[in-house]
Amino acid sequence: MTSPTPRSRYPACALCGGTFVGGMRMTSQHKTGVFPFRKRLWVNPLSTLSAVVCLGCGHTKLFADELNRLRFEAQRHPEIFDW
Ligand SMILES: [Zn+2]
Repeated sequence: MTSPTPRSRYPACALCGGTFVGGMRMTSQHKTGVFPFRKRLWVNPLSTLSAVVCLGCGHTKLFADELNRLRFEAQRHPEIFDW
């Protein structure tokens, strides 16, 4: 038996109780992702982003794909990531 909606490992939406679905990546013509804004010369994003979207209200969450790289850079250059 297959269920009519994709299975989700994310909790129900806090806004509407809907189901989050994933398997999507944020894209654009340019290289979309997170860049440290104190280091403007980077050509490639520090991490690309994956998205999960609530089927009930469209609430969208983004997740960094290259989390290990982000952790590594944050340890090497903590001053870049002050917030
Ligand atoms: Zn929702």
